[in-house]
Amino acid sequence: MPKRTKPQVRSGVPQPGSLNPHLQAQRRKLRPAAEYVAGILGGSRVLLGQAITLIESTRPEHQELAQAIIEGCLPHSGRSFRVGITGSPGAGKSTFIEALGQHLLQQGGRLAVLAIDPSSQVSRGSILGDKTRMEKLASREAAFIRPSPAGESLGGVARKTRESIILCEAAGYDTIFIETVGVGQSETAVHSMADFFLLLLLPGAGDELQGIKRGIVEMADLIAVNKADGERLPLAKRARQEYRNALHLLPPKVSGWAPRVEICSATTGTGIAEAWAVAEDYLKITKANGFFEKNRRAQAHYWLHEAINQQLRAAFAGNADVREKLKSIEQAVLEGKLSPFQGAEELVGLFLKG
Ligand code: GDP
Repeated sequence: MPKRTKPQVRSGVPQPGSLNPHLQAQRRKLRPAAEYVAGILGGSRVLLGQAITLIESTRPEHQELAQAIIEGCLPHSGRSFRVGITGSPGAGKSTFIEALGQHLLQQGGRLAVLAIDPSSQVSRGSILGDKTRMEKLASREAAFIRPSPAGESLGGVARKTRESIILCEAAGYDTIFIETVGVGQSETAVHSMADFFLLLLLPGAGDELQGIKRGIVEMADLIAVNKADGERLPLAKRARQEYRNALHLLPPKVSGWAPRVEICSATTGTGIAEAWAVAEDYLKITKANGFFEKNRRAQAHYWLHEAINQQLRAAFAGNADVREKLKSIEQAVLEGKLSPFQGAEELVGLFLKG
């Protein structure tokens, strides 16, 4: 037998780093929940990012750890101003957030930017953009920017973003932006987790032409007509007047706040500080009249029930008896042999027995 030579250790070709840092973080050895919590409370962006990756993971052991981290962060959360920002693609959301973010940082604030992007679950592509957005802001220590989680349903994506808010607050970010595109249903999800809702519009085209639904205009606490610069300035001023007139026709809001319409330019910076002053006004008024707290409680109530629905649905879908019978009952309903209600009753009955 030939003598085996000891295998030589070669240094090998250096491997490039993972293209997806979040994935890389996930492969890293997991730490105990308390370490993540301590890191987050100490303001570590790295541990915060890794913990959010755990929230986004579907693996049961990651989920369990994520829930323990959230629990540890919960007592330190809730103290930020949560601002929902929506607008059609191209309205200038990332440019606006970049400009407003610099303004907030200059005032000594700390800002986290999260997103809910409905497209990432449908097409795996992203309307909010996979391109590196808000580069200047991202490089600042006082800012934390996280793209939208990918997920199978809007409900799932929204839950992950809501949980990420808790972690960001525990990490000391006093302002949280939750960004989305105002063309689907995601803005309703954002509205259900934001204190203040800002709609960014383009001058010169009606909101319907921009794909913005009427319901979204009604949700807005501030409409900012962006790109109010150069030759678009007169158009922007006209749009401001039109929206002011339109908002007058709406019934008063339960918040006691009269929604405002302003113009701004995210590229020149004109009107950015003024837009933020409106948000601060809102904060003052709704904290004084009790709406801020009332709304937070109503949101917690809503999310409790959302979570119950999601957990029940997941348990139902995972139930062995249900899985076995589902196809045949579906078929019987499609063929008209069984009513949908009878079919549901039978399946839910199986689930409850199981
Ligand atoms: P998003 O899709 O809503 O995030 O929009 P972006 O921030 O990517 O902006 C879309 C385009 O509009 C970019 O080319 C920006 O440079 C441009 N843009 C954004 N804000 C303004 C603005 O205030 N004035 C002008 N003239 N262009 C802007």
